[in-house]
Amino acid sequence: MDHLPVLGLDADDTLWENEAHFRQTEDRFLDLVAPWADHETAAAALLAAEKANLSVTGYGIKGFVLSMVETAISLSDGACDADRIGTILDWGRWMLQAPVDPLPGVAETLEVLAADHRLLVITKGDLGEQLRKVAASGLAGHFWQVEVVAHKTAEAYRDVLDGHGITPADFVMVGNSVPSDVLPVLALGGRAVHVPHHTTWALETVHADDVDGHDFPVLDSLAELPALLTDWRG
Ligand SMILES: [Mg+2]
Repeated sequence: MDHLPVLGLDADDTLWENEAHFRQTEDRFLDLVAPWADHETAAAALLAAEKANLSVTGYGIKGFVLSMVETAISLSDGACDADRIGTILDWGRWMLQAPVDPLPGVAETLEVLAADHRLLVITKGDLGEQLRKVAASGLAGHFWQVEVVAHKTAEAYRDVLDGHGITPADFVMVGNSVPSDVLPVLALGGRAVHVPHHTTWALETVHADDVDGHDFPVLDSLAELPALLTDWRG
């Protein structure tokens, strides 16, 4: 096993659906605060609150819930009642326990990839939330290691790779986010593959300028990855 190349995998929206749960909840939230703000105003206020809270709460459901509660209180000028706040908390509790469904074809593809790679999941967010999803996904048996980091910066990737004695030049990372899964790994001298997901959080989108000069493959689905990696190995 030790001799097998290490393949890095993002988890949320690469292996299983995640962002859609946030967007569904956000849609409900926009309706809940509709007495005080139109959807566009409320969506902008919520995103601003999420951004402001990131440095305090990190990524994840609990920070999202806190942001919804704060936004409801501020948009309503304090008129949002305890029933509505309770509803928001219930949504959060549901999200924290929601089933984790692998995306179509992912389980089969991981089985193929695990035959000649050590699969290293690198995911960012709340440690407990991320580990629960790994366990609930039914995919844990395919993974060599799981690493949960606070932010997916080049430094964070370097720490993870150093910790496992992996040389960046030998490392390939795969994920749905260009700023989180692709650019920091390319910056370290590794290789990266982008597998876009149908739903992307506003804070995970990338400006064309940031991608300029970077060359990385973009696949329609994870199922195309084994052939690409075989190709790369020549
Ligand atoms: Mg992701």
